[in-house]
Amino acid sequence: MKRIFVLLFASLSLQSCFSQNTNNKTTMDNKKNPAYSRTDNSKVVLKEDEWKNILSPEVYYISRQKGTERPYTSKFENFKEIGTYYCGACGNPLFKSDTKFDAGCGWPSFYEPISKSSIIYLPDNTLGMKRTEVECGRCKGHLGHVFDDGPPPTGLRYCINGVVLDFEKAQAAEKKYENENSKVKSEKSKG
Ligand SMILES: [Zn+2]
Repeated sequence: MKRIFVLLFASLSLQSCFSQNTNNKTTMDNKKNPAYSRTDNSKVVLKEDEWKNILSPEVYYISRQKGTERPYTSKFENFKEIGTYYCGACGNPLFKSDTKFDAGCGWPSFYEPISKSSIIYLPDNTLGMKRTEVECGRCKGHLGHVFDDGPPPTGLRYCINGVVLDFEKAQAAEKKYENENSKVKSEKSKG
C-alpha cells in the first residue's frame, strides 16, 4: 500500500514538473502557428480557413470574426506584471505594461500602443454606435476599440480583448540574458 502512495506521489510530482515546463502555454501553442513571430514585422496575410487551422477557437473568434470576450473574464484585466503584450494571433508587439491602467470597464485597457505599426484604426458604426476599431498592424486581427476617455498623456483608452493578447514578463527576458551570460562565463572559465 505504501508503495502505491509513493508511486502516486512520484507520478504527481512528475506531472507538476511537466506542467511547469509547459507553463508558457501560448509559446507552445504558437509553434503550431507559422505566422507567429515576435521579431518578424512583415505583414501576415492568410485566408480565413488558414487562420482557422492555426488559431485556437477562442482567438479565432475574436481576431478573425471580430468577437468580444465577456467583460471581467480576462486574466489580464487586473494583471500587474511588468512586461510586453503581443498579438496572440501573430506575435506583433502591441503594448507595454507601463501604459496599462485600471479602466474598470471589464477589459484590459492601455493608453498607448508600442509603435505606429502596432495598431490599425478603422471606423466602426455597428451596433448603432460610432466607435473606432483597433486591429493588429501586422495581421489585421481584431483587438478591440479605442475611446477618447483615457488618462494622460494620450487621453486614449485602448479597450482590448484579453483573449487575443500574449504576455511576456520583462524579468523572463532578463533572466534569459543572465543565463546566457553566465553560460558564456562558465564556458570561458572552463577553457
Ligand atoms: Zn497580429
